[in-house]
Amino acid sequence: MRLAVLKERRAGETRVAATPETARKLMDLGLGVVVETGAGAGSGLTDAAYREAGAEIVPDAAAALAGAKVVLKVRAPLGTGEGEVDELALIPRGALLIGTLEAVANPRRAQAYAELGIEACSMELLPRITRAQSMDVLSSQANLAGYRAVIEGAAAFDKGFPMLMTAAGTIPAANVFIMGAGVAGLQAIATARRLGGRVSATDVRPAAKEEIKSLGAAFVGYEDEESRAAQTAGGYAKQLSPEFYARQAEVIAAAVAKADVVVCTALVQGRRAPTLLTAAMVESMRPGSVVVDIAADAGGNCALTKPGEAIVTEGGVKILGHTNWPGRIPAAASALYARNLLTFLSTFWDREAKAPKLPQEDEIVRGVTLTRGGAVVHPQLATAAA
Ligand code: NAD
Repeated sequence: MRLAVLKERRAGETRVAATPETARKLMDLGLGVVVETGAGAGSGLTDAAYREAGAEIVPDAAAALAGAKVVLKVRAPLGTGEGEVDELALIPRGALLIGTLEAVANPRRAQAYAELGIEACSMELLPRITRAQSMDVLSSQANLAGYRAVIEGAAAFDKGFPMLMTAAGTIPAANVFIMGAGVAGLQAIATARRLGGRVSATDVRPAAKEEIKSLGAAFVGYEDEESRAAQTAGGYAKQLSPEFYARQAEVIAAAVAKADVVVCTALVQGRRAPTLLTAAMVESMRPGSVVVDIAADAGGNCALTKPGEAIVTEGGVKILGHTNWPGRIPAAASALYARNLLTFLSTFWDREAKAPKLPQEDEIVRGVTLTRGGAVVHPQLATAAA
Protein backbone atom coordinates (compact mmCIF):
# COMPACT_ATOMS: atom_id res chain seq x y z
CA MET A 1 0.00 0.00 0.00
CA ARG A 2 1.43 3.36 -1.09
CA LEU A 3 1.51 6.37 1.23
CA ALA A 4 2.24 9.78 -0.30
CA VAL A 5 3.97 12.70 1.40
CA LEU A 6 3.59 15.95 -0.53
CA LYS A 7 5.54 19.18 -0.52
CA GLU A 8 3.39 21.82 1.24
CA ARG A 9 2.47 24.53 -1.25
CA ARG A 10 0.38 26.94 0.83
CA ALA A 11 2.07 30.30 1.41
CA GLY A 12 4.57 30.34 4.27
CA GLU A 13 4.19 26.65 5.11
CA THR A 14 7.58 25.25 6.11
CA ARG A 15 6.48 22.01 7.73
CA VAL A 16 6.14 18.50 6.33
CA ALA A 17 3.78 15.70 7.37
CA ALA A 18 6.36 12.89 7.62
CA THR A 19 10.03 12.91 8.57
CA PRO A 20 12.63 10.25 7.73
CA GLU A 21 12.10 8.92 11.27
CA THR A 22 8.33 8.49 10.84
CA ALA A 23 8.72 7.31 7.23
CA ARG A 24 10.76 4.37 8.52
CA LYS A 25 8.08 3.52 11.08
CA LEU A 26 5.34 3.84 8.47
CA MET A 27 7.26 1.32 6.39
CA ASP A 28 7.37 -1.00 9.41
CA LEU A 29 3.56 -0.99 9.24
CA GLY A 30 3.86 -2.36 5.72
CA LEU A 31 3.41 0.89 3.80
CA GLY A 32 5.48 1.95 0.80
CA VAL A 33 6.37 5.60 1.45
CA VAL A 34 6.63 7.93 -1.56
CA VAL A 35 7.91 11.46 -0.94
CA GLU A 36 7.70 14.36 -3.37
CA THR A 37 11.15 15.84 -3.95
CA GLY A 38 11.90 18.80 -1.68
CA ALA A 39 9.02 17.98 0.70
CA GLY A 40 11.23 18.28 3.78
CA ALA A 41 13.39 21.19 2.59
CA GLY A 42 11.58 23.82 4.71
CA SER A 43 12.34 21.74 7.80
CA GLY A 44 15.95 20.96 6.94
CA LEU A 45 15.15 17.40 5.80
CA THR A 46 16.85 16.39 2.57
CA ASP A 47 15.64 13.96 -0.08
CA ALA A 48 18.76 11.92 0.73
CA ALA A 49 17.64 11.54 4.37
CA TYR A 50 14.24 10.20 3.27
CA ARG A 51 15.92 7.91 0.73
CA GLU A 52 18.26 6.59 3.41
CA ALA A 53 15.20 5.83 5.54
CA GLY A 54 13.89 3.70 2.67
CA ALA A 55 11.38 6.09 1.08
CA GLU A 56 11.04 6.57 -2.67
CA ILE A 57 11.63 10.13 -3.88
CA VAL A 58 9.55 11.24 -6.88
CA PRO A 59 9.75 14.44 -8.96
CA ASP A 60 6.26 15.91 -8.45
CA ALA A 61 2.88 15.71 -6.76
CA ALA A 62 1.36 13.68 -9.60
CA ALA A 63 4.00 10.97 -9.25
CA ALA A 64 3.66 10.95 -5.45
CA LEU A 65 -0.12 10.62 -5.57
CA ALA A 66 -0.37 8.04 -8.36
CA GLY A 67 -1.81 4.90 -6.75
CA ALA A 68 -1.62 6.36 -3.23
CA LYS A 69 -3.98 4.82 -0.68
CA VAL A 70 -2.93 7.16 2.16
CA VAL A 71 -1.94 10.83 1.79
CA LEU A 72 -0.28 12.75 4.63
CA LYS A 73 -0.43 16.56 4.61
CA VAL A 74 0.14 19.44 6.98
CA ARG A 75 -2.40 21.79 5.37
CA ALA A 76 -5.31 21.10 3.03
CA PRO A 77 -4.30 20.05 -0.50
CA LEU A 78 -4.65 22.76 -3.12
CA GLY A 79 -7.87 22.58 -5.12
CA THR A 80 -8.74 23.94 -8.55
CA GLY A 81 -7.48 27.50 -9.00
CA GLU A 82 -5.65 27.57 -5.64
CA GLY A 83 -2.16 27.18 -7.14
CA GLU A 84 -0.21 25.81 -10.04
CA VAL A 85 -0.99 22.19 -9.09
CA ASP A 86 -4.51 20.90 -8.47
CA GLU A 87 -3.43 18.43 -5.80
CA LEU A 88 -6.97 17.44 -4.96
CA ALA A 89 -7.70 16.24 -8.47
CA LEU A 90 -4.61 14.00 -8.30
CA ILE A 91 -5.67 12.16 -5.13
CA PRO A 92 -7.03 8.71 -6.08
CA ARG A 93 -10.67 7.90 -5.23
CA GLY A 94 -10.97 6.05 -1.94
CA ALA A 95 -7.63 7.34 -0.61
CA LEU A 96 -7.37 8.29 3.06
CA LEU A 97 -6.29 11.92 3.44
CA ILE A 98 -4.94 13.02 6.83
CA GLY A 99 -3.97 16.61 7.68
CA THR A 100 -5.10 19.80 9.38
CA LEU A 101 -7.68 20.41 6.70
CA GLU A 102 -9.54 23.30 8.40
CA ALA A 103 -12.80 22.23 6.81
CA VAL A 104 -15.08 23.66 9.48
CA ALA A 105 -13.99 27.16 8.45
CA ASN A 106 -13.98 26.07 4.78
CA PRO A 107 -16.97 23.70 4.43
CA ARG A 108 -16.67 23.62 0.62
CA ARG A 109 -13.46 21.65 1.10
CA ALA A 110 -15.28 18.81 2.82
CA GLN A 111 -17.88 18.82 0.06
CA ALA A 112 -15.09 18.52 -2.54
CA TYR A 113 -13.49 15.61 -0.66
CA ALA A 114 -16.85 13.83 -0.58
CA GLU A 115 -17.46 14.40 -4.29
CA LEU A 116 -14.01 13.07 -5.14
CA GLY A 117 -14.52 10.01 -2.93
CA ILE A 118 -11.64 10.99 -0.62
CA GLU A 119 -11.85 9.69 2.95
CA ALA A 120 -10.70 12.80 4.80
CA CYS A 121 -9.58 13.05 8.44
CA SER A 122 -8.92 16.50 9.89
CA MET A 123 -6.61 16.27 12.85
CA GLU A 124 -7.39 19.66 14.40
CA LEU A 125 -10.83 18.22 15.26
CA LEU A 126 -9.34 15.52 17.49
CA PRO A 127 -11.19 15.29 20.84
CA ARG A 128 -9.06 16.58 23.75
CA ILE A 129 -9.12 13.30 25.67
CA THR A 130 -6.24 11.57 27.41
CA ARG A 131 -6.11 8.67 24.93
CA ALA A 132 -5.70 11.15 22.04
CA GLN A 133 -2.89 13.20 23.59
CA SER A 134 -0.08 11.63 21.59
CA MET A 135 -1.94 12.37 18.33
CA ASP A 136 -2.92 15.90 19.31
CA VAL A 137 -1.55 18.17 16.60
CA LEU A 138 -3.06 21.31 18.13
CA SER A 139 -1.18 20.69 21.37
CA SER A 140 2.14 19.73 19.82
CA GLN A 141 2.11 22.75 17.54
CA ALA A 142 0.76 25.21 20.14
CA ASN A 143 3.48 24.17 22.56
CA LEU A 144 6.18 25.10 20.05
CA ALA A 145 4.36 28.29 19.06
CA GLY A 146 4.34 29.41 22.70
CA TYR A 147 8.05 28.76 23.03
CA ARG A 148 8.92 30.48 19.77
CA ALA A 149 6.74 33.52 20.58
CA VAL A 150 8.74 34.22 23.73
CA ILE A 151 12.07 33.70 21.97
CA GLU A 152 11.09 36.13 19.20
CA GLY A 153 9.60 38.55 21.72
CA ALA A 154 12.84 38.50 23.72
CA ALA A 155 14.88 39.08 20.56
CA ALA A 156 12.71 42.04 19.53
CA PHE A 157 12.72 43.58 23.05
CA ASP A 158 15.25 46.36 23.48
CA LYS A 159 16.35 45.17 26.95
CA GLY A 160 17.08 41.79 28.49
CA PHE A 161 14.65 39.39 30.21
CA PRO A 162 16.66 38.59 33.36
CA MET A 163 17.71 41.07 35.99
CA LEU A 164 21.24 41.92 34.87
CA MET A 165 23.54 42.99 37.69
CA THR A 166 26.72 44.38 36.24
CA ALA A 167 29.60 46.57 37.41
CA ALA A 168 27.97 49.36 35.39
CA GLY A 169 24.69 49.00 37.22
CA THR A 170 21.54 46.90 37.26
CA ILE A 171 18.98 46.32 34.53
CA PRO A 172 15.66 45.17 36.03
CA ALA A 173 13.98 41.96 34.92
CA ALA A 174 11.44 42.30 32.11
CA ASN A 175 7.75 42.18 32.97
CA VAL A 176 6.20 39.57 30.70
CA PHE A 177 2.42 39.26 30.51
CA ILE A 178 0.88 36.19 28.88
CA MET A 179 -2.74 36.41 27.70
CA GLY A 180 -4.37 32.99 27.44
CA ALA A 181 -2.91 30.08 29.39
CA GLY A 182 -3.77 27.07 27.26
CA VAL A 183 -1.07 24.87 25.79
CA ALA A 184 0.77 27.74 24.03
CA GLY A 185 0.39 30.17 26.94
CA LEU A 186 1.67 27.71 29.54
CA GLN A 187 4.74 26.99 27.42
CA ALA A 188 5.19 30.76 26.97
CA ILE A 189 5.08 31.20 30.76
CA ALA A 190 7.67 28.45 31.28
CA THR A 191 9.95 29.83 28.57
CA ALA A 192 9.74 33.43 29.81
CA ARG A 193 10.50 32.24 33.35
CA ARG A 194 13.51 30.26 32.12
CA LEU A 195 14.81 33.42 30.49
CA GLY A 196 14.51 35.23 33.81
CA GLY A 197 11.44 37.38 33.15
CA ARG A 198 8.90 38.39 35.81
CA VAL A 199 5.86 36.65 34.47
CA SER A 200 2.13 37.14 34.97
CA ALA A 201 -0.72 35.65 32.98
CA THR A 202 -4.46 35.74 32.48
CA ASP A 203 -7.12 33.32 31.27
CA VAL A 204 -10.87 32.96 31.58
CA ARG A 205 -11.03 29.23 32.23
CA PRO A 206 -11.24 28.57 35.96
CA ALA A 207 -8.69 25.72 35.82
CA ALA A 208 -6.08 28.00 34.28
CA LYS A 209 -5.51 30.00 37.47
CA GLU A 210 -3.90 27.09 39.30
CA GLU A 211 -1.93 26.07 36.22
CA ILE A 212 -0.52 29.59 35.89
CA LYS A 213 0.46 29.66 39.55
CA SER A 214 2.00 26.18 39.43
CA LEU A 215 4.44 27.46 36.80
CA GLY A 216 5.52 30.26 39.13
CA ALA A 217 3.68 33.10 37.38
CA ALA A 218 1.25 35.55 38.96
CA PHE A 219 -2.42 35.26 37.98
CA VAL A 220 -4.11 38.41 36.70
CA GLY A 221 -7.82 38.27 36.14
CA TYR A 222 -11.35 39.20 36.83
CA GLU A 223 -13.51 36.38 38.12
CA ASP A 224 -17.26 36.12 38.52
CA GLU A 225 -19.91 33.44 38.33
CA GLU A 226 -19.90 33.54 34.56
CA SER A 227 -16.14 33.01 34.28
CA ARG A 228 -16.27 30.20 36.85
CA ALA A 229 -18.37 28.26 34.32
CA ALA A 230 -16.37 29.40 31.30
CA GLN A 231 -15.16 26.03 30.13
CA THR A 232 -16.80 23.66 27.66
CA ALA A 233 -16.91 19.92 28.29
CA GLY A 234 -14.11 19.65 25.72
CA GLY A 235 -11.87 21.92 27.82
CA TYR A 236 -12.09 24.97 25.55
CA ALA A 237 -12.96 28.50 26.65
CA LYS A 238 -16.56 29.58 26.10
CA GLN A 239 -17.60 32.80 24.44
CA LEU A 240 -18.48 35.15 27.33
CA SER A 241 -20.78 38.18 27.66
CA PRO A 242 -19.76 41.73 26.63
CA GLU A 243 -20.10 42.74 30.32
CA PHE A 244 -17.55 40.13 31.34
CA TYR A 245 -15.10 41.21 28.63
CA ALA A 246 -15.46 44.87 29.75
CA ARG A 247 -14.61 43.97 33.37
CA GLN A 248 -11.76 41.75 32.24
CA ALA A 249 -10.40 44.61 30.11
CA GLU A 250 -10.09 46.91 33.14
CA VAL A 251 -7.97 44.40 35.04
CA ILE A 252 -5.89 43.61 31.99
CA ALA A 253 -5.26 47.26 31.15
CA ALA A 254 -3.37 47.72 34.41
CA ALA A 255 -1.18 44.66 33.74
CA VAL A 256 -0.47 45.70 30.16
CA ALA A 257 0.63 49.20 31.14
CA LYS A 258 3.36 47.64 33.32
CA ALA A 259 4.39 45.00 30.78
CA ASP A 260 7.54 45.07 28.65
CA VAL A 261 6.48 42.07 26.57
CA VAL A 262 2.91 40.84 26.06
CA VAL A 263 2.35 37.42 24.49
CA CYS A 264 -1.19 36.88 23.17
CA THR A 265 -2.41 33.29 22.83
CA ALA A 266 -6.14 33.51 23.61
CA LEU A 267 -8.46 31.56 21.33
CA VAL A 268 -12.11 30.58 21.37
CA GLN A 269 -12.67 27.45 19.28
CA GLY A 270 -14.27 28.06 15.89
CA ARG A 271 -14.47 31.85 16.30
CA ARG A 272 -12.39 34.92 15.65
CA ALA A 273 -9.85 35.40 18.48
CA PRO A 274 -11.16 37.74 21.20
CA THR A 275 -9.76 41.29 21.12
CA LEU A 276 -8.12 41.62 24.52
CA LEU A 277 -5.51 44.28 23.84
CA THR A 278 -7.05 47.54 22.63
CA ALA A 279 -5.23 50.34 20.82
CA ALA A 280 -5.40 52.40 24.03
CA MET A 281 -3.72 49.61 25.99
CA VAL A 282 -0.92 49.40 23.43
CA GLU A 283 -0.51 53.18 23.66
CA SER A 284 0.00 52.81 27.41
CA MET A 285 3.07 50.63 26.81
CA ARG A 286 6.61 52.04 26.88
CA PRO A 287 8.37 52.60 23.52
CA GLY A 288 10.58 49.58 22.78
CA SER A 289 8.18 47.13 24.36
CA VAL A 290 6.78 44.23 22.39
CA VAL A 291 3.46 42.54 21.68
CA VAL A 292 3.71 39.02 20.24
CA ASP A 293 0.34 37.93 18.86
CA ILE A 294 0.29 34.23 18.13
CA ALA A 295 -3.50 34.42 17.83
CA ALA A 296 -2.88 36.31 14.55
CA ASP A 297 -4.05 33.31 12.48
CA ALA A 298 -7.49 33.80 14.04
CA GLY A 299 -7.40 37.60 13.59
CA GLY A 300 -5.26 38.36 16.66
CA ASN A 301 -5.90 39.33 20.29
CA CYS A 302 -4.44 42.81 19.74
CA ALA A 303 -6.60 45.36 17.90
CA LEU A 304 -3.52 46.71 16.08
CA THR A 305 -2.15 43.35 14.91
CA LYS A 306 -1.69 43.07 11.17
CA PRO A 307 -1.83 39.31 10.57
CA GLY A 308 1.29 38.16 8.75
CA GLU A 309 3.28 41.32 9.55
CA ALA A 310 5.63 42.76 12.16
CA ILE A 311 4.90 46.46 12.70
CA VAL A 312 6.01 49.31 14.96
CA THR A 313 3.28 51.63 16.28
CA GLU A 314 3.65 55.42 16.38
CA GLY A 315 4.30 55.01 20.09
CA GLY A 316 7.27 52.73 19.35
CA VAL A 317 5.66 49.43 20.39
CA LYS A 318 6.61 46.46 18.21
CA ILE A 319 3.75 44.13 17.30
CA LEU A 320 4.77 40.75 15.93
CA GLY A 321 1.69 39.48 14.11
CA HIS A 322 3.26 36.63 12.17
CA THR A 323 0.97 33.79 11.26
CA ASN A 324 1.83 30.08 11.43
CA TRP A 325 4.03 30.31 14.53
CA PRO A 326 4.77 26.57 14.60
CA GLY A 327 6.12 27.00 11.06
CA ARG A 328 8.71 29.43 12.50
CA ILE A 329 10.33 26.51 14.30
CA PRO A 330 9.89 24.07 11.43
CA ALA A 331 12.22 21.17 12.23
CA ALA A 332 10.74 20.65 15.68
CA ALA A 333 7.18 21.33 14.48
CA SER A 334 7.50 18.79 11.65
CA ALA A 335 9.07 16.21 13.97
CA LEU A 336 6.16 16.42 16.43
CA TYR A 337 3.43 16.78 13.81
CA ALA A 338 4.77 13.77 11.90
CA ARG A 339 4.81 11.71 15.10
CA ASN A 340 1.21 12.73 15.84
CA LEU A 341 0.14 11.41 12.42
CA LEU A 342 2.21 8.25 12.80
CA THR A 343 0.55 7.55 16.17
CA PHE A 344 -2.90 8.11 14.67
CA LEU A 345 -2.22 5.75 11.76
CA SER A 346 -0.58 3.06 13.86
CA THR A 347 -3.40 3.21 16.45
CA PHE A 348 -5.99 2.67 13.73
CA TRP A 349 -4.08 0.11 11.72
CA ASP A 350 -5.06 -3.44 10.86
CA ARG A 351 -1.75 -5.26 11.18
CA GLU A 352 -2.95 -8.36 9.37
CA ALA A 353 -4.52 -6.59 6.42
CA LYS A 354 -1.71 -3.96 6.53
CA ALA A 355 -4.35 -1.27 5.98
CA PRO A 356 -5.98 1.54 7.96
CA LYS A 357 -8.99 0.53 10.04
CA LEU A 358 -11.11 3.46 11.20
CA PRO A 359 -13.98 2.24 13.39
CA GLN A 360 -16.61 4.97 13.42
CA GLU A 361 -17.74 3.93 16.90
CA ASP A 362 -14.37 5.13 18.21
CA GLU A 363 -14.59 8.65 19.67
CA ILE A 364 -11.28 9.72 18.17
CA VAL A 365 -12.11 8.43 14.68
CA ARG A 366 -15.58 9.98 14.78
CA GLY A 367 -14.07 13.26 15.96
CA VAL A 368 -11.70 13.64 13.02
CA THR A 369 -13.63 12.00 10.14
CA LEU A 370 -14.91 14.60 7.67
CA THR A 371 -16.03 12.38 4.83
CA ARG A 372 -16.84 8.72 4.36
CA GLY A 373 -18.09 6.77 1.36
CA GLY A 374 -18.69 9.93 -0.67
CA ALA A 375 -20.62 11.84 2.02
CA VAL A 376 -19.77 14.60 4.48
CA VAL A 377 -20.31 12.94 7.86
CA HIS A 378 -18.75 15.25 10.45
CA PRO A 379 -21.44 16.58 12.82
CA GLN A 380 -20.07 20.14 12.54
CA LEU A 381 -20.43 19.95 8.74
CA ALA A 382 -23.07 17.38 7.82
CA THR A 383 -26.00 19.77 8.38
CA ALA A 384 -24.34 22.52 6.35
CA ALA A 385 -23.76 20.05 3.50
CA ALA A 386 -27.33 18.68 3.53
P1 NAD B 1 -6.97 27.35 22.86
O1 NAD B 1 -5.81 27.36 21.95
O2 NAD B 1 -8.34 27.08 22.32
O3 NAD B 1 -7.03 28.76 23.64
C1 NAD B 1 -5.89 29.26 24.31
C2 NAD B 1 -6.29 29.80 25.66
O4 NAD B 1 -6.97 31.06 25.50
C3 NAD B 1 -7.23 28.90 26.46
O5 NAD B 1 -6.63 28.58 27.70
C4 NAD B 1 -8.47 29.78 26.63
O6 NAD B 1 -9.12 29.55 27.87
C5 NAD B 1 -7.87 31.17 26.57
N1 NAD B 1 -8.84 32.25 26.35
C6 NAD B 1 -9.92 32.28 25.55
N2 NAD B 1 -10.57 33.47 25.66
C7 NAD B 1 -9.87 34.22 26.56
C8 NAD B 1 -10.02 35.52 27.09
N3 NAD B 1 -11.04 36.30 26.76
N4 NAD B 1 -9.11 35.95 27.98
C9 NAD B 1 -8.06 35.17 28.36
N5 NAD B 1 -7.86 33.92 27.88
C10 NAD B 1 -8.75 33.45 27.00
O7 NAD B 1 -6.71 26.35 24.06
P2 NAD B 1 -5.77 25.08 24.09
O8 NAD B 1 -4.39 25.47 24.35
O9 NAD B 1 -6.07 24.26 22.89
O10 NAD B 1 -6.32 24.34 25.39
C11 NAD B 1 -7.70 24.25 25.66
C12 NAD B 1 -7.93 23.31 26.81
O11 NAD B 1 -7.76 21.97 26.39
C13 NAD B 1 -7.05 23.48 28.00
O12 NAD B 1 -7.86 23.26 29.12
C14 NAD B 1 -6.04 22.38 27.88
O13 NAD B 1 -5.49 22.01 29.11
C15 NAD B 1 -6.93 21.32 27.32
N6 NAD B 1 -6.20 20.28 26.62
C16 NAD B 1 -6.47 18.97 26.92
C17 NAD B 1 -5.80 17.98 26.25
C18 NAD B 1 -6.08 16.54 26.53
O14 NAD B 1 -6.54 16.20 27.58
N7 NAD B 1 -5.82 15.69 25.56
C19 NAD B 1 -4.89 18.29 25.27
C20 NAD B 1 -4.64 19.64 24.99
C21 NAD B 1 -5.32 20.62 25.67
